[in-house]
Amino acid sequence: MTSINSICIYCGSSSGRLDAYASAALSMAESLVNRNIKLVYGGASIGIMGMMADQVLKLGGQAIGVIPKALAHKEVAHQHLTELHVTQSMHERKMLMAELSDGFIALPGGIGTLEELFEIWTWAQLGFHQKPCGLLNVEGYYDSLIEFLDHVRAEKFVKHHHRAMLMVESGPEALLDRYVDYQPPTVEHWLGKDET
Ligand code: AMP
Repeated sequence: MTSINSICIYCGSSSGRLDAYASAALSMAESLVNRNIKLVYGGASIGIMGMMADQVLKLGGQAIGVIPKALAHKEVAHQHLTELHVTQSMHERKMLMAELSDGFIALPGGIGTLEELFEIWTWAQLGFHQKPCGLLNVEGYYDSLIEFLDHVRAEKFVKHHHRAMLMVESGPEALLDRYVDYQPPTVEHWLGKDET
């Protein structure tokens, strides 16, 4: 069993079209607090990012924000977090978010969310960390991305075990249960010795 004390959530700085996206962020917040897991996120008070942090705090949990100084004003840094780290750069932000977290989850979001997810998954593929990565696929938001990732696998641009690292569930409880049981790929998997 993996000990998960903090999870980094990547999600939209917008609210999105469907109410279901915000509802999923609130459910995720509730699941984190119930499991005594700290939220690590981008530190904004806007979009579903802000709603999720507000919900964690309202339920008595801990929300840790990490925001680059150039965005602190633009994304309206949340002023009531348990901790707010203001970094010099976006790279430093993403590095600190990774260091502070025992796992990573993307909720629905835009280009920033996708970039953050793919970077952290790439780091996992390279063995730079052994922490679980996954998607909360709310209302099928990520269906076409998942289909494309299966195409990437079918075309042999990613190994089976690296593709399988990205866990996908539609609800937070199922996803967090899988994080506790997560086993990172072994050295043989990195080398692809078990694959044709
Ligand atoms: P978005 O999903 O585009 O609404 O953005 C969600 C979060 O990703 C926000 O906190 C953005 O600051 C962040 N973000 C936007 N662009 C990037 C990027 N190139 N690299 C990392 N994070 C980003």
